[in-house]
Amino acid sequence: MGPSEAPRCDFCGKANPKVPLIASPLKPAHICLECVQYLYEAAKASRRGLRLRNWKMPQTSPAEIKAYLDAYVVGQESAKRKLAIAVYNHYRRIAAFLAHPDQPPPVRVEKSNILLIGPTGTGKTLLARTIAQFLEVPFAIADATTLTEAGYVGEDVENVLVRLLQAADYEVEYAQIGIVYIDEIDKIARKSENPSLTRDVGGEGVQQALLKLLEGTVANVPPKGGRKHPEQSFIPVNTENILFICGGAFEGIDKIVARRLSRQVVGFRRAGSLEERPESLYAYVQPEDLRKFGFIPEFIGRLPIIAAMEPLNEEALYRILTEPRNALVRQYQTLLSWDGIQLDFTEEALRALARAALEIGTGARALRSLLETILEDLLFTRPKGAHLLITEDFVQQRLKPLRAAG
Ligand code: ADP
Repeated sequence: MGPSEAPRCDFCGKANPKVPLIASPLKPAHICLECVQYLYEAAKASRRGLRLRNWKMPQTSPAEIKAYLDAYVVGQESAKRKLAIAVYNHYRRIAAFLAHPDQPPPVRVEKSNILLIGPTGTGKTLLARTIAQFLEVPFAIADATTLTEAGYVGEDVENVLVRLLQAADYEVEYAQIGIVYIDEIDKIARKSENPSLTRDVGGEGVQQALLKLLEGTVANVPPKGGRKHPEQSFIPVNTENILFICGGAFEGIDKIVARRLSRQVVGFRRAGSLEERPESLYAYVQPEDLRKFGFIPEFIGRLPIIAAMEPLNEEALYRILTEPRNALVRQYQTLLSWDGIQLDFTEEALRALARAALEIGTGARALRSLLETILEDLLFTRPKGAHLLITEDFVQQRLKPLRAAG
């Protein structure tokens, strides 16, 4: 642009545009704000789908997925195996879809959402999270107790996808291959035996609504969560390839299983199996038990893989303290090593901790608060350069006030 010429946008060529012109700091060139806006949108569009395009199904096998889980999750052999198979199949299905998005496969392979049944603190959330970490897909945790049927107080079911969108930086296509863990799914069981007697706001209605998400639908997700209202704009999310892992303690379902088994297997009870290992009944849960527990058949049908979590015994709790890659003992050792403190435990000390956790009864959840309690002074004083050995005596001393209170 010469001094006598009218200012012109060198990108669109418009002379004297109505919007401001921005001069290049390097060359005698200008660009109008309209073009800047256009380029900004184009840049955003070209980045869109990038994380999805960069995602590759790991070259793996169910056995390798299981081995990966082994490094983080102690025990739960049967659940890990089932999960490894289901997840492998699920992502094979997605990889096939991504390779030929316009060409539906000759046989429609259905999704295998997973139901994890077992006591609190036994690793349900940990399993779901570890799988997502292995596959490098977005992951979100939702809580079924906060959900209600549309139109009632509480959250709409679409909210379970909000956090997944956030985990995918709002890249919808990437969110659409993610994993959602829905905790406390047992709390949306129908409360009353007879569905027609009372209107069951928290239960059956939520199951109906969630059912659609589980089987695959285009859900309208309020980008920031909360209740839907008409003036809000929604992000459509296709849940066809989202893997849902639901988990719950299902307290009391063992009795339903026992009743069925004693009906079905003559002499089962007399053989003593039920009395000897009541916890193992979770391993026998069948869809019809879930129906008795208060779930509608359609909902159960969308969770074809049922895996039982075992209650953690003392040995498992002991192993959880030291074995997993992110084991609690390793975490505290690392934390203190930054202050030049070396921390060790005798085996008896760790076993005492495992026993104390078992008494509390919240699975591995108790381990963390117990460690925090016995190490509190140390974590506060940070004796630089110290080398400390935690013994059983030390553990018992520190746990005394806790025991007295409990
Ligand atoms: P749940 O979802 O079954 O209630 P979580 O997966 O949230 O339990 O586990 C609670 C805590 O205990 C987590 O810190 C987790 O790392 C640990 N934990 C639970 N079970 C195991 C396990 N089997 N192996 C290793 N860590 C476990």
